[in-house]
Amino acid sequence: VWRSLVSQVMGGANRRPAGSSFSRGMQTVTLIPGDGIGPEISAAVVKIFDAAKAPVQWEERNVTAIKGPGGKWMIPADAKESMDRSKIGLKGPLKTPIAAGHPSMNLLLRKTFDLYANVRPCVSIEGYRTPYTDVDLVTIRENTEGEYSGIEHVIVDGVVQSIKLITEDASRRIAEYAFEYARNNQRSSVTAVHKANIMRMSDGLFLRKCREVAENFKDVKFTEMYLDTVCLNMVQEPTQFDVLVMPNLYGDILSDLCAGLIGGLGVTPSGNIGANGVAIFESVHGTAPDIAGLDLANPTALLLSAVMMLRHMGLHQHAAKIQTACFGTIKEKKVLTKDLGGNSKCSEFTAEICRRV
Ligand code: NAD
Repeated sequence: VWRSLVSQVMGGANRRPAGSSFSRGMQTVTLIPGDGIGPEISAAVVKIFDAAKAPVQWEERNVTAIKGPGGKWMIPADAKESMDRSKIGLKGPLKTPIAAGHPSMNLLLRKTFDLYANVRPCVSIEGYRTPYTDVDLVTIRENTEGEYSGIEHVIVDGVVQSIKLITEDASRRIAEYAFEYARNNQRSSVTAVHKANIMRMSDGLFLRKCREVAENFKDVKFTEMYLDTVCLNMVQEPTQFDVLVMPNLYGDILSDLCAGLIGGLGVTPSGNIGANGVAIFESVHGTAPDIAGLDLANPTALLLSAVMMLRHMGLHQHAAKIQTACFGTIKEKKVLTKDLGGNSKCSEFTAEICRRV
């Protein structure tokens, strides 16, 4: 079993480089609890991992932006050092500072570790009331360029130009990740989402790279679809989709639409895959300052992100055990947090999942 897990992990997108903490025993994960409800939901995940005997040892680090040499914003050296060594992070939400000139911490982490792929599995949870009951798809968003390249300027007073940057390298890299993800996770098809009919050069380049990469993955079906057609089909019949790969802006919007199909951001996990084997898994909701410290937070999104992380690490059995316990708790409807329609505290919901693993 171990050999097959290792070959699965080392064989493709989930490959971990030499020098990482990947070993037969405990694996180190950098835990960034975050702000607001972050510490509460992180503590819930740690408890559930303990109950499930997941072979993970946590290295907790705080992340706040600090000014380095030359006034450049950076993350604290001990957090960077831990991530460089462990290669795997689990992160709670971080508040975006409102002070002028202060960078978004999430953006800083993305840049520091070149987190180029945002991966969001959207799976319907049985028993949780949503518009659909059988959604099972994954959005893979290019995370570094497109309309979010940050190149904007005033041409003349009243006219602003914003550049959409698409490169061959980033398009090939995200397409390769999507196909490798599909292959390693027993998914049958990849759909490239684009508007190459209108943005012939930029989306045209993205699509061309997807087509080229598809040639090397004959075992995975490749389709291409216009973004507007995807939106229409997604709300009418989401089960037709499997893995979807797309440029940055489309991914930002479509991934939230897909989260809506399964019950919202409170139950949606995500992973950010970087160059050099680094990956950071995080819930997509924010710090929920209105309920912070009140034991009311729902830890599901962070827990499911941690389940994604276990799969990324090759710990499939532990991942399945924890996911089953979480989904079972929600299906039974006896112990649910308020946002899921119940009256229980975060600690009670956590204890129920621990009892089931
Ligand atoms: P939010 O997601 O924090 O809250 C929106 C609403 O959802 C609130 O009513 C909140 O109580 C509820 N909610 C969110 N997560 C919940 C959970 N796990 N359980 C129960 N209820 C939950 O969005 P916001 O208020 O716009 O943002 C607050 C802060 O979070 C801001 O500083 C923002 O920049 C930051 N933020 C961080 C991330 C991240 O780190 N990935 C993402 C989004 C927002």
